[in-house]
Amino acid sequence: MSTERNNKTMPAICNEGCNKQFEVNGFQTARLPGAIEKTYFTCPHCKHEYVAFYTDMEVRELQAKIRRVQTKLQNPRVDQTEALKQVKDIQAQIKAGMDRVRTVVEGGL
Ligand SMILES: [Zn+2]
Repeated sequence: MSTERNNKTMPAICNEGCNKQFEVNGFQTARLPGAIEKTYFTCPHCKHEYVAFYTDMEVRELQAKIRRVQTKLQNPRVDQTEALKQVKDIQAQIKAGMDRVRTVVEGGL
């Protein structure tokens, strides 16, 4: 369960729905079968849903792992080059994982 909050707003255009502009202020999450979580936002005008990404247990573990490595970057006694390399590696794994889960969900399996 994620307790993260994203309070930043970002402008978006509802290009798959009503074509109006709106502010995205935070993402919503929905639980899907198979312990998959969908992170998404909706257009306030027409309620069209835009999926940011999907995660499963494996991806969420990687997200927890990357946060631990990122805290190392604030520690001057840690090898920064090595920590940065780890962050990059985990980022790539997270991206691959999100793509994998999206294929499963949107492929209708
Ligand atoms: Zn819309």
